This record gives sequence, structure tokens and C-alpha cells, in this order.
Amino acid sequence: MLDVRRIREDFPILSRTVHGKPLVYLDNAATTQKPRQVVAALAEFYERHNANVHRGVHTLSDEATALMDAARRKTAEFLHAPKPETVVFTRNTTESINLVAHSWGRKFVSAGDEILLTEMEHHSNLVPWQMLAKEKGARLRFIPVTEDGRLDLAAAPGLITAKTKLVAFTAASNALGTLNPVPGLIALAKSRGARTLVDAAQWTPHYPTDVASWDCDFLVFSAHKMMGPTGLGVLYAKEELLEAMDPFLGGGDMIERVSWEGFTPNVVPYKFEAGTPNIAAAAAFSAALDYLSRAGFAALHEHEAALTKRALEIFAEFPAATVYGPKEPGARGGIVSFNIEGVHPHDVGTAFDLEGVAVRAGHHCCQPLMGRLKVGGTARASFYLYNTMNEVEALGGALAKTAAFFKRPAGVK
Ligand code: PLP
Repeated sequence: MLDVRRIREDFPILSRTVHGKPLVYLDNAATTQKPRQVVAALAEFYERHNANVHRGVHTLSDEATALMDAARRKTAEFLHAPKPETVVFTRNTTESINLVAHSWGRKFVSAGDEILLTEMEHHSNLVPWQMLAKEKGARLRFIPVTEDGRLDLAAAPGLITAKTKLVAFTAASNALGTLNPVPGLIALAKSRGARTLVDAAQWTPHYPTDVASWDCDFLVFSAHKMMGPTGLGVLYAKEELLEAMDPFLGGGDMIERVSWEGFTPNVVPYKFEAGTPNIAAAAAFSAALDYLSRAGFAALHEHEAALTKRALEIFAEFPAATVYGPKEPGARGGIVSFNIEGVHPHDVGTAFDLEGVAVRAGHHCCQPLMGRLKVGGTARASFYLYNTMNEVEALGGALAKTAAFFKRPAGVK
């Protein structure tokens, strides 16, 4: 069991107030708070080791390089990746997917090829493929989402054809909380000879990830959604794919030799890391991974499941509230996306904020999915290891107050 009281002591921000109320931070799917240990690692880098990597022949540069190498090793271990070299550091999930669309897609996707996505993708896992499809004359297809917010798995096999080059899907939906059957989807894609990309932005913060047993080709996520700093993303890819892909950005560090006529790319993974990387963030991400591993995924999951279950019970008591996504708690992660009848989600967000409760409101970078749900947007509460049952009750309090405030007198439309 998580010692949440003890954990909260590591997050000073959680003891601040907002509008005179204790902060109840339930916007973790957007970004998580950072424990002291991560902030300390950032400060320690700048106070003691700051230098550029690789290029220096001095002690500080060696230390900075060692910190970056250690972060890569730790990330590879965290993912169960076969080698640290299969881990490419980027700025975020979005950049990781753009890297794949650019460096793999431009080389291996041709006119008439198909890329299979799902209807619940974040714009990050949609727009780069739209750009590629437009450039190449390729076609995007989508695994539909059912009424209760799951992937229509019965439709999936029929959507993979001999032309399907890639199946790219989110492991967990940021808009609905739905957990997708990652190994099953990968197995299906592989059985038809398609490559796979797993958007694990909402997965890695909450569940163990094993790229070796999943045997996915690409997996992407962001450090900031798992207590790490902003400005650091990860692309895991199979080594042979990284070797076969062309560089993404050109510049320093990604080259081995440069002449007036051209360049020879650096070895993997540096080939994909042009320019000065976010060394401080990588060092601090190591601290975030340590923090997560001390907490333990089993305890984390048990805690989040209990919070989500209680939140769903509270919402069920409000006829004016609609919750989106699967009804069974086991089919969803710690995300509750909802609307209050007749109230714009932005007004919900503002009203909750006045109660100190931070939730997200809008389309969650999933505009086509919102269209599918026939809503302009939703409000979304999302939990993490430092949230408490009292905070879930505060969410319920904000819901009751907001629903009562906006309730129309009988007969008024
Ligand atoms: N994919 C999913 C499922 C997400 O939830 C997010 C962020 O919310 C992203 C991709 C994009 O992440 P980032 O903004 O860190 O690039």
C-alpha cells in the first residue's frame, strides 16, 4: 500500500492553496507534479555538473555525459529494452512520433500504403500521420470506438490489409481513460506484417512497460507525465529500424563527419539527437524513475484504482453528470472524463478551480473523438500516486456545487 501522506511531503506544491482553498490537483494526465528528489536532481546538475555533453574533454563535460548515459540506461531498464542505444531522447511524445513519421515514414511508406490508427488518438498520433499521408499519397484508416469508449476490436482485423505498413495506437486514452489491449493489437499487426507504434504517454506513468515481451517496433512517451521534468521525451525503437532510418534533424552531434559536400550520420541513437540535448532533464528523469520504482507499480495501481472507483461512484449519484469511457473500473485507468448537463466544460473547469480543484476542460487534443462522442469537449479529472480519497470527495463536492449552481429552474430549457 502506498504511504500517500509520506509521499505528499515530497511534493511541496500540493500544500499550496488556490482561491483560498487547498489545491486538489487532478490534472495529472496533462502533466504531473514533481517530487523534491526530481527538483533536487535538476538543481544539482546546474549547481555542480553543468557542461555540454560529448564534446568536452574536461571533467564537467564527462560528468554531464555520464549523467545522460545513466539516464539512457535507466530508461532502457525501465522499458525492458534490450540496449540503451534503442532509447532516443526527444523533447516529448509529440516529437518522438514526428521523428518516426519523418525518418521511418518518409522512407518506408509509399503511395497507396495504409496506416491504421484508432479513433481515440491524441492529435500527436494523428496529425504527423496526416502530414505523411498527404505527402506520400498514403491512406489513414481508423479502428472505431464503441459507444462505451472502447476500441471495436472485432473491426480491427478487417482494417489491416496487405497495404498496412503501420498500426499506431495509444495504450491508454487520455480523453476516456480506456486501457487498450496492447499485446493483442501488436500481435494482430505483426501477424499481417505491419509495424507497430505504441503511444505510451498515458501508460508508462502508471503501468509496467515491457517492449521486449510486447515486441513493438516503436514506443513513445513523455517524462513530464511521470514526475519527470518538461522538455524530455523518449522514443524506443528496435535497433534495426533505427539503423535503417534516416536522421530527423540535422546539426551538431548527429554527425560522424561533415564535409562541404555532405555528412556521414553518427551512430544510433545519436544520429537522432541533433544539437545540445536536455541534459538537466535527463538527469532529473533518472530521479523520477527511481521515485516510481520505489513506489512500485502494484501499489500505485491499487491506489489509483481505489480513487477511480470512488470517483465513479460519486459521479453515478449525479443524474446531471455523464461519464465517458468504459463503465467497468478494470477497463479504465485513473481518468474520469465527464460533462454536467447544460454546462460548458470550460465553465465546469472554472467552477471547480474556484473550489481549488484543478481539472482539465476541452477537447483534450482529441477533436475527432469528441465529434464521435457528439460533444464539443469534456471536463477531465485524472489521478496520480499523491492524490487522496479526501481529494476525490473534494471533487464530488465541487461537482455537487457546480451542478446546483447551474441547475435551471424547472421548465427552463
Ligand atoms: N499522446 C497522449 C495519449 C497524450 O495524452 C499526450 C499528452 O497529453 C500526448 C500524446 C502528447 O504528449 P506531449 O504533449 O508531452 O508531447
